[in-house]
Amino acid sequence: MSDDVHEVVIVGAGFAGICAAIRLKDAGIDDFVMLERADDVGGTWRDNRYPGVAVDIPSVTYQFSFAQKSDWRRVFARGAEVKDYVDDVVDRYGLREHVRFNTEVVDAEFDEDDHRWRVRTAGGRTLSARFLISAHGVFSKAKRPDIDGVEDFAGKTIHTLHWDDDHDLTGERVAVIGTGATSVQLVPEIAKKVERLDVYQRTPIWVVPRPDVRVPPAVRRLFGALPPARWAARAAVSAGIEIAMLLGVTNHTRLPFLVKGIRKLAERHLERQVPDPELRRRLRPQYEFGCKRPALSNDYWRTFTRDNVDLVTEKIQRILPHGIETVDGQVREIDTLILATGFQFLEYDSVPGYPLRGEGGVDLRDWWVDNRYQAYEGISVTGFPNLFLIPAPHFATSWSWLVMVESQTRHAQRVISHALRNGATYAGVRPDAQRRFYREMDTGHEKTLFLNPSCAGSNTYYLDRDGRPSIVRPQSSVTARWRANRFPLDDYELRAS
Ligand code: NAP
Repeated sequence: MSDDVHEVVIVGAGFAGICAAIRLKDAGIDDFVMLERADDVGGTWRDNRYPGVAVDIPSVTYQFSFAQKSDWRRVFARGAEVKDYVDDVVDRYGLREHVRFNTEVVDAEFDEDDHRWRVRTAGGRTLSARFLISAHGVFSKAKRPDIDGVEDFAGKTIHTLHWDDDHDLTGERVAVIGTGATSVQLVPEIAKKVERLDVYQRTPIWVVPRPDVRVPPAVRRLFGALPPARWAARAAVSAGIEIAMLLGVTNHTRLPFLVKGIRKLAERHLERQVPDPELRRRLRPQYEFGCKRPALSNDYWRTFTRDNVDLVTEKIQRILPHGIETVDGQVREIDTLILATGFQFLEYDSVPGYPLRGEGGVDLRDWWVDNRYQAYEGISVTGFPNLFLIPAPHFATSWSWLVMVESQTRHAQRVISHALRNGATYAGVRPDAQRRFYREMDTGHEKTLFLNPSCAGSNTYYLDRDGRPSIVRPQSSVTARWRANRFPLDDYELRAS
């Protein structure tokens, strides 16, 4: 079908897809379409609408460098304000007309004869794209716990990724399974309205205070009138986070005391919030701070001191139609079961979440099983030409998803522009370039916190099925940005069909 032949197909209209589209437009490439399985843009900020959802790095850094908002209402924006920002960027850059909503990609295959990706959708259409940017994001597939009986619960079950705004928890008996960053935001909010709340914890989480306040109107006016003031605030916050992550986590073996210092801060926070030493002992992680994603909250730990909230640390035996049974035989009856059990990430079927077949019909998922998780510059894989994955292994420099996305999309745009300039129909990363990058990443990982023995028992998702922190790019985001702008284009082999 001629109307479905494009230079570029972008899968997903979250921040990564949006940034990719802006990059293409800036480079003068207008023949692209964005396929979005939902009926709205925004990815994670469209989907995550649970009570308490908010960013947990300051808003000034959680925005594109080229589209800065001067009037963030809070230091840590609530989810709804981030979603408004997404909508504003999409409209400002005229992207809505490029998006096909309710269009889920079910698989994609590289045609080696004419160097095009055939992208199939759930609706039975096939699109043809010279280049495919799969902006599938990190947290788009809900993970349901592998607990006996979870499908048999007779009350209401809600995964935090699919929050049901119409379900009122007021006066209910509620269980939350999971104590990750989502649970830390959710638990204090719902504790105020439910009759009883049982929080099932498998691995405790480190929490530090959250310096969140409303941004005074005078500061917002200043940021609006004087962009350099806004840039300075962003630069200062970014530098602080970057240096802490780089020295404490990425190069942990050099300065291990930094992380210990932050752990002491978290320990004091716990002592202040929870006077009971026994409850404190149960809430305190035994692994080092940073091994697992920590959270920021001023009221999470304190919530467990409420009369209507219980921390349950016994292992769950099974879920019954009317409640949850733990291994000690106790059954706690509930009306609503909330699964704060996270997302499928770097699991066989999760990145990108649909089968991709490259040269020789090789399935990317199998390629990663055979070759371990790896991707050149965290975005492309040898044998899968004209394809850019956001994210792919080795993408995560540290903190702001948007900072990473800006670098990744710049990489993709450089390769696409280079191929078009040279009349090439094929741009595939050379195996030796990918091997070189992989060795660099693997060596760098040895210095990270994640492979340190102090992370034992953290059950961290930073480690993949081979026990390697393959999502991590053990470099600063400044390096990643520099490399996105400067990596040798010769690392890609160009051909013309
Ligand atoms: P998560 O960090 O993966 O946490 C899932 C929780 O569910 C963990 O406590 C896990 O226990 C527990 N769990 C999973 N399966 C279980 C089972 N079978 N039995 C008992 N417990 C089980 O997921 P999340 O809290 O949704 O957060 C995911 C990521 O989203 C975060 O790391 C963060 O990057 C992002 N996030 C960001 C923000 C923000 O920036 N504002 C907010 C929320 C989330 P174990 O620890 O033992 O595995």
